[in-house]
Amino acid sequence: MKQNFTTKVLAMLLTIGLVLAMAACGQQESSDEGSGGTQVVEGVGQGKHGDIKVKVTFADDKITDIQVVEHQENEVLAEPVYTQLKEVVMASNSVEVDAISGSTVTSKGYLSAIQDAIAKSGLTLAAVGAVSNTSQHQEEAEQTFDVVVIGGGGAGFSAAIEANLAGAKVVLLEKMPTVGGNTLISGGEMNAPNNWVQQKLGITDDSADLYYEDTMKGGDNLGTPEMVRILADNALASAEWLRDEIKVEFLPDHLFQFGGHSRKRALIPVGHTGAELITKLKAKTEAQGVAIKTNMKANTLITNDQGRVTGVAATSGNGEQIIFHANKGVVLATGGFGSNVEMRKQYNPEMDEKYMSTDTPGTTGDGIVMAQALSAKLTNMEYIQTYPVCNPETGVISLVADSRFDGAILINQEGERFVEELERRDVISKAILAQTGGYAYQFWNQTIADIGKTIEAHQDEYDMLVKQGLLHKADTIEEAAKFFNVDVDTLKATVEKVNQYASTGDDLDFHHRSGLVSLKTGPYYIQKAVPSVHHTMGGLVIDEQAHVIKEDGSIISGLYAAGEVTGVIHGTNRLGGNAIADIFTFGRIAGANAASN
Ligand code: ADP
Repeated sequence: MKQNFTTKVLAMLLTIGLVLAMAACGQQESSDEGSGGTQVVEGVGQGKHGDIKVKVTFADDKITDIQVVEHQENEVLAEPVYTQLKEVVMASNSVEVDAISGSTVTSKGYLSAIQDAIAKSGLTLAAVGAVSNTSQHQEEAEQTFDVVVIGGGGAGFSAAIEANLAGAKVVLLEKMPTVGGNTLISGGEMNAPNNWVQQKLGITDDSADLYYEDTMKGGDNLGTPEMVRILADNALASAEWLRDEIKVEFLPDHLFQFGGHSRKRALIPVGHTGAELITKLKAKTEAQGVAIKTNMKANTLITNDQGRVTGVAATSGNGEQIIFHANKGVVLATGGFGSNVEMRKQYNPEMDEKYMSTDTPGTTGDGIVMAQALSAKLTNMEYIQTYPVCNPETGVISLVADSRFDGAILINQEGERFVEELERRDVISKAILAQTGGYAYQFWNQTIADIGKTIEAHQDEYDMLVKQGLLHKADTIEEAAKFFNVDVDTLKATVEKVNQYASTGDDLDFHHRSGLVSLKTGPYYIQKAVPSVHHTMGGLVIDEQAHVIKEDGSIISGLYAAGEVTGVIHGTNRLGGNAIADIFTFGRIAGANAASN
């Protein structure tokens, strides 16, 4: 009897305990506390592009596994979060750890998802000492390769692949926890005259000559003519290389006509971002056996007695000093300096803190500084481009707003157009800053949205902008205007004029170069935007073989450069779609030449 009573009480207590535990666990998926206290609990956090859902396994008071079950983050940027940061959280048994640099928002979403699971588990986790998130395996203090490539954006990857194909043993150093640079977060569009999509769309009057002229003119003729000629003559081959060798997929039947271009000639990678480029380049590079070292920051170029560059001194994530000897050559592919406000101000005081930047944090001008120590010549350093249509709260480039290339118009707070929407980026940016409040609205309708499908392509950005109150979809022009307090009558009058110009094909106000599109039917989209620092046109002077040139005009032997770190292509102003064409054309040249020494 007594035994029976005890059993019943115990059973009751166990039931109550189980109910309480389940209530505390919320979405707890399974509880197996009987066998060693293991439980798996689901948690949710807000990432950059939506919810991150994780399943956390706890054994007693320790985290023993974390699985991501759902997310929409950029795969390349999320990779170190779901691997490196996971190890750190497990080793320190805590979410009080540093975010992965360059993937901060994804890190925070991931950590808050784990925190959510911890809270639901009802556990108090055992305390363990702090662990660094940049710890990596011990590196050999001295390593020897034929070619050392610094920077893991498009220029660096294409240089590494070509150098490897030319028979060189190659290492690629990237200071951030992930590769990709600005290339990864760009729209990834690439100009190529006479490309296969143009042929399909019946655009038969483009040529390398026209492309050359547009690029020179777009940069006020401050690009170096021979170098721009190489770009114009080789851009198509670079695009074909990406398509055929790297297996990059481009949209088969859509092109952009970026501002300043006289033809629609920009190929668009699937997904409308550089993720398609970097994912495929990384896969190819790894398949070829090129060593990729992330969290590896190059600090100085090493030279021999004759002044030839023979290696790179770098620092690993663990703080170890590593020397990478380069038997044949070093390629600088470190990108621009848009994220380095001091350096921006040094060359152009106007580009100060008031501007946010669209750039990744890694673009701090390191390659320029390293080469300057060897008397490298710089050019066009004062020309810093702002991208006109960016998020007014974060400075991030708006890819949803690529609808501008399909016919969206720009209006000011008063509801008036104020610039040709396909003008150069610098012209549009200046015009926006001159409007009331220094901002503009981009305005378009469903007809335009259906052409390029930029909303579907960037649904995560669209949702975020709507949530931030920076973009609104409206059934009528009145509703769109009222959302941002724009003058309704003026906006209606503006739209009427646009419709008239669309029907005649003649924009009497701003001479829209590809012709306006009718805004007669809704629904409508209205989006607030500001300019943000986007590209640094200036940089190192290179020659046709991508050698870095000294102030005295001679070559720095053993040193090559390609991509945004160089300053010879874009003059005062880079045209849209020209960065991608530039980095792959000259990245390949630099890699092949560095290997042939
Ligand atoms: P590009 O378009 O010219 O290829 P990106 O911005 O795409 O330029 O890539 C440049 C890359 O170089 C970035 O990933 C950046 O983090 C990396 N980088 C910059 N400085 C260094 C450095 N000192 N050591 C290693 N990598 C660097």
